[in-house]
Amino acid sequence: MEHPLNIYNTLTRRKEIFVPLHAPHVGMYVCGPTVYGDAHLGHARPAITFDMLFRYLKQLGYKVRYVRNITDVGHLEHDADDGEDKVAKKARLEQLEPMEVVQYYLNRYHKAMDALNVLPPGIEPHASGHIIEQIELVGKIIAGGYAYESEGSVYFDVEKYNGDHRYGILSGRNIEDMLNTSRELEGQEEKRNPADFALWKKARPEHIMRWPSPWSDGFPGWHCECTAMGKKYLGNHFDIHGGGMDLIFPHHECEIAQAVASQGDDMVRYWMHNNMITIDGQKMGKSLGNFITLDEFFSGSHPQLAQPYSPMTIRFFILQAHYRSTVDFSNEALQASAKGLARLMEACGHIAALPFAAESSTNMVKGLRAGCFEAMNDDLNSPVLISNLFEAARLVNSVRDGKATLSAADIKELQDVFTLFLFDILGISDETATGNSHDEAFGKAIDLLLSIRQQAKAAKDWATSDKIRNELTALGFEIKDTKEGTEWRID
Ligand code: ZN
Repeated sequence: MEHPLNIYNTLTRRKEIFVPLHAPHVGMYVCGPTVYGDAHLGHARPAITFDMLFRYLKQLGYKVRYVRNITDVGHLEHDADDGEDKVAKKARLEQLEPMEVVQYYLNRYHKAMDALNVLPPGIEPHASGHIIEQIELVGKIIAGGYAYESEGSVYFDVEKYNGDHRYGILSGRNIEDMLNTSRELEGQEEKRNPADFALWKKARPEHIMRWPSPWSDGFPGWHCECTAMGKKYLGNHFDIHGGGMDLIFPHHECEIAQAVASQGDDMVRYWMHNNMITIDGQKMGKSLGNFITLDEFFSGSHPQLAQPYSPMTIRFFILQAHYRSTVDFSNEALQASAKGLARLMEACGHIAALPFAAESSTNMVKGLRAGCFEAMNDDLNSPVLISNLFEAARLVNSVRDGKATLSAADIKELQDVFTLFLFDILGISDETATGNSHDEAFGKAIDLLLSIRQQAKAAKDWATSDKIRNELTALGFEIKDTKEGTEWRID
């Protein structure tokens, strides 16, 4: 291909030509959600970004093994108030089995991802299902001399590691800074150095989720799961590791250290990170009152939302920015996205019915496909791709207005390019055609019956109007005549 796929590698801080280790196979690992609450706008961005990459790699002919983990236990992101694991806390407060909490939120996460047309990964491993692999990883790091046991917990020896390798290679931080900025956390006194991170934590008596290990009954440190599960499903070396920018430090920095300490080198060829979403210029957070879940966006039920926003509006809004740029949410920005998407979908719907001419009056269609590929190959430049599609939409409108002509072949090409880039690669779906089409058709059929009844009434054909009313009532419908027309509902 003229323009090979270039992706920005966070590790080298430059765009690199993507060359898979074992073409046509590509191994891709993306850090998935922590499931103790509903998915919010911040979850949508990495999911959609790496979904676009997944779809695009498949379009390029690669066979992608896509792994996205579920962080269900053991992570160190404890509740700020009492240091308790968030899943465990929810389970205790609601008297549920921890896995019930995990499954409940995981089901809801999947539903939200389906709505956003995010394809499911090939493998979705749970941290709690891979304790053995994590214990094995910790054992290897201890054997290599880069970890030590202390009071039943195991810590990674950052200073020792940094003497032989470079801790901070991904984030660009240096260890001296870290020594100064490390917060005083519970368990700190067990560490040789405040920058050391936990590979295994001994569980306190009240801790529900615990597993036996050579060191104590406890649970693995959060960073272990991705190293252990990446290795298990993608091998010692794989192509792409993705996630949000907020994971660069400490999570991915620690993953690199664990891999190097356990096998001598990093597992990952290309580290990719999406930027964050802000709301009116502010970081999203529960305490800031601007923490909006995806369901709230879809239903419009958050005080900061002027209206509901459809899943495709959210998806299009996110794709309108380059994944490495920040995205600032506002009602105005989302409303503009909804309008833009409607314009594209409308133009797309008109293509098949365009009149064709013997010749095209423009060369635009000829270069369209190459221009779209060029945008995607330039580090997944979705905003440039979308602007190419907008240009194509303007051409469609010009042809409809008789201001331009297109040959039959160009019309077909236009249709194919829209299908490939808008639907298959950007993953936009036609919301008017999917979803509740069955319910919609049902509602329209009832409306049709009631309009026939209305006509019968107007014609004083009481037998027909009564028959429709009585039989619908017998079927369980409630029919009510109001000044505005006839209303109906069914129990
Ligand atoms: Zn991870």
